[in-house]
Amino acid sequence: MRVVYSPRELQNLLKEEKGSIGFVPTMGALHLGHRTLIEASKKENEITVVSIFVNPTQFLEGEDLDAYPRKEDADKKVCELSGVDYLFYPTVEAIYGKDEVHLNAPNVRGYIMEGTSRPGHFSGVLTVVNKLLNIVQPTHAYFGKKDAQQLMLIETMVENLFMDVSIVPMNTVREKDGLAMSSRNVYLNEKERVEALNIIKSLREATQMIMEGERDVAKIKQEMFKTLTPLAVEYITIVSRTFEPIDKVILGNTVILVEALSGTTRLLDNIWV
Ligand code: AMP
Repeated sequence: MRVVYSPRELQNLLKEEKGSIGFVPTMGALHLGHRTLIEASKKENEITVVSIFVNPTQFLEGEDLDAYPRKEDADKKVCELSGVDYLFYPTVEAIYGKDEVHLNAPNVRGYIMEGTSRPGHFSGVLTVVNKLLNIVQPTHAYFGKKDAQQLMLIETMVENLFMDVSIVPMNTVREKDGLAMSSRNVYLNEKERVEALNIIKSLREATQMIMEGERDVAKIKQEMFKTLTPLAVEYITIVSRTFEPIDKVILGNTVILVEALSGTTRLLDNIWV
């Protein structure tokens, strides 16, 4: 595995490579969720590139940018053992200059749900993903459905900017008890970790209600809200797969999303029905 710090150097190295390139962008503190994306890339491409970059422009003032878990040595080992060909590990200065061209997330779908509690967050995400995709120019890029709104906005960006990459959505990897794996789970104390399970419980209940014939979005949300207590619910949203608002669940075209705080830790999860 080659660790590369400079964007231009990586571009030059990848120009020499023959065959398809799979790309897994991450913020590090790698867990099994990330490893599943890497495995899929390994299977489907000749070359696999992973990036680790804690992107400052997607953190708002007062968020956990400085506290975000950083595990450089362990992450390098994980990538090496997973058979990654290139690990891209740039500094902030290597990615961002001064007085830059800026991408803005779509005015509606970039500013609802997580975009309401974190205005500007998705503009930062799209800006960095655009830069990373331009540097790596992969055939396939792998993203988790756990961050469903992010995935939808990246798919939208690729379409809107006519980018030549195939985005591959990957299912959410969970702990045995159902909690969606996340680098931020390390923030949870014992009590918060137990209460965090209300999120998957509420999503499973919603699925059960739908299986039993319930289609009314308001009723499903009401039940979910009860189950999520005592977590501080940021939103429960039920939308179509293109994130249009719906009143009635449409089987095969519905996403149920939750964002809630356990203690001070922001947790996201969703289910596609
Ligand atoms: P992050 O390092 O949290 O920015 O995540 C990097 C990529 O891994 C994103 O595409 C995430 O959606 C994806 N990811 C994070 N957690 C999981 C998980 N539990 N299952 C599947 N993919 C995940």
